[in-house]
Amino acid sequence: MNIESFLCDGYCIVVIRDVTLDKDLVEKQKKFVSNISHELKSPLTAILGFLQILKEEKEYNQVILNYMESETIKLKDLVLDILEVSKLQSYELKLQKKTINLSWLLLKICDENINLKASKFNISINTNIQDGISLIADEDKISQAIVNLLDNAIKYSNPHNQINVLLYKNFNQEILIEVKDSGIGIPENEVCYIFDRFYRAKNALSIGGNGLGLTIFKEIIEMHGGRIEVASKVGQGSTFTIILPQENLAGESESC
Ligand code: ADP
Repeated sequence: MNIESFLCDGYCIVVIRDVTLDKDLVEKQKKFVSNISHELKSPLTAILGFLQILKEEKEYNQVILNYMESETIKLKDLVLDILEVSKLQSYELKLQKKTINLSWLLLKICDENINLKASKFNISINTNIQDGISLIADEDKISQAIVNLLDNAIKYSNPHNQINVLLYKNFNQEILIEVKDSGIGIPENEVCYIFDRFYRAKNALSIGGNGLGLTIFKEIIEMHGGRIEVASKVGQGSTFTIILPQENLAGESESC
């Protein structure tokens, strides 16, 4: 509590300000900066170490160069994700909304992910996508959100697992996108934290990641007026459901 008093026209005016929220914000900022520093430090330290070895060996070493390349890519992805989160959370970003064919978009994203990522681990993606579902949305952002979800479903699955992707409307005419995997699952007491910046569940720490994908995902879905449901069991898998309102498709495209 912050209390100030002053005299005005013979009256004593007392201003009481609750600064709990300010303190919370400062704490959150501190934690954010400390998390970023930690995440940036690890790949940078690795790159510096590899450079040192290369200098000492004084010769071309393909293995070390490959390590350095993958650490640099991690670093670049991390910086891009940090920039994306800060853009989304600062309300700087304007959505470029137009009517999109969600059924077609979802099929396209699944096909690309099967070819690029899932097939490498012998993971199959099954789709059950209702035809002709349209949505007024920012196509790039909605694609980014769905890709983040599929990336996780693939990353946290075991080889030869199956991922199911569904698109349908419920009786309220809301649009539902379901991504269901049978991978490692999320501990029950950690589900509430997975959308926090940099949060990674204990059972995921041995798998690569920076804990920003779901933060970006959640911001994008909420910017579209949607909500998210998660059901998960350790060792059995996770289902993420995006629920989007059906907007008036007769309306003009808009920027907001
Ligand atoms: P990360 O880069 O760690 O994957 P995310 O923000 O995308 O970051 O996810 C946050 C955390 O949520 C992950 O570290 C993991 O613990 C958990 N998680 C997300 N998706 C899944 C999934 N499909 N299966 C199991 N755990 C998941």
